[in-house]
Amino acid sequence: MQPQEIFTKQVQQKIADKEFRQRLTPVLNYFEENRLEGIQEFSNLELARQRAAYTRWKVNENLDKYLVDFEGSIIRRGGKVVWAFDAQNALAEIDAIIKRTQAKKIVKSKSGISNEIGLLAHLKGKGNGVVETDIADYILDITGNKSYHPIAPAISLKADELAKTLNKKIKSSLEADKQELVSDIRAEIRSKFFEADIGITGANFLIADSGSVAISENQGNARLSFAFAKTHIVLASIDKILPTINDLELFFSLYATHSTGQYLATYNTITGPIYREDMEGPSEFIVILLDNGRSNLLATQDQRQALTCIDCGACSNVCPVFKMIGGNDTYQSSQGGPIGQVYGPFQQGFSEHQFLSNASTNCGKCSDVCPVKIDLHNHLLRNRHEGILQGIEKTSEKLAWYTWKKFMMSRKTLNRPASIKNFTFKQFYKDDWGEKREFPKIADKSFNQLWREKHGLN
Ligand code: SF4
Repeated sequence: MQPQEIFTKQVQQKIADKEFRQRLTPVLNYFEENRLEGIQEFSNLELARQRAAYTRWKVNENLDKYLVDFEGSIIRRGGKVVWAFDAQNALAEIDAIIKRTQAKKIVKSKSGISNEIGLLAHLKGKGNGVVETDIADYILDITGNKSYHPIAPAISLKADELAKTLNKKIKSSLEADKQELVSDIRAEIRSKFFEADIGITGANFLIADSGSVAISENQGNARLSFAFAKTHIVLASIDKILPTINDLELFFSLYATHSTGQYLATYNTITGPIYREDMEGPSEFIVILLDNGRSNLLATQDQRQALTCIDCGACSNVCPVFKMIGGNDTYQSSQGGPIGQVYGPFQQGFSEHQFLSNASTNCGKCSDVCPVKIDLHNHLLRNRHEGILQGIEKTSEKLAWYTWKKFMMSRKTLNRPASIKNFTFKQFYKDDWGEKREFPKIADKSFNQLWREKHGLN
């Protein structure tokens, strides 16, 4: 089945699932309320957003230079940077590190990139002992579900079903409340940190001047994942660069306020290769820099702004479409929500993923809330334009627009009886309109007729 067919099928299921929406919409609204509260911390939010947008724009326009600067800084500190063109490259590199270090135990913290390249399934498929240390990702792993939301991946799961799964897996009580379940998972995971040979983390930001990796989190699992391991692998995409360590002051707080409404996340870690005088820490530090289609986006003049995203998830929380059809798994793309819709066609090809550009009301709410001022809704329009330039329009769609134009340009046709117009429209558009929406009815009287009546011209 093509991605668009799977998408349409899932959308139909989710829209019809009232219980699902009643459970999820309040959670997304809660995130948005938190953001509204969190941004009160800024004395001038607009200025902060402008500064952030400018910094990220500057990085984007000079990404080749900043990436090389970052690599140089890491190497000077004794670490290593590996460039991965795509998911296969990145996975092969991780396999090679595991083989070379003869690692038996691996811990992994939350990372959108690891989901993007299917790291967990790959490592498990190769027989590696790997444990997800983020509570939500741990839950997704044992339940076999996919991430729903960048900040809260497991919020779509039902509490009672989760309790049953955890009861089987880690013997937690069936009567346990959320807090108790979290404590049980933590107890289960904790010992794994001490035993790990390799710790794999993501990165919120890569700092070019200092050769550092910055991670913002609320559970402290990323920090623990590499604290006791001999090798720390950082899996990050090429668009995570910030020029200097001073930029973190702004970006840590923008990220926290826009993702969870906190002024700062609970744990903000700045790490990198250990210094000679350091008494502890991983002896080996490797950053895998993943492209995976981002260069396609960078190559465009108009759309590359999407690479300035800091993955806060705020655009998804306010998106009326995401609320109806979320989450990430529905979109058939590595990322869901408005930013995933802009990314998807460039990353996975317009021919199969152009449909993502159309799954939007273009209300503009996503652009309004974005902390780095990404013009998301207009990028979706540009994607649609790009799709047309690439000739990825269905023949039925072309025919429908041709007919519409002919119809609208002809006074004679416009003045035909409403019954004929309604019948004709239904023939052309009913499939695309879908079963769940009532097809709009054309007014009984044409504009021409109303005008004539008003001015007594009949
Ligand atoms: S596009 Fe903007 S609002 Fe959406 S996740 Fe990225 S930074 Fe956040």
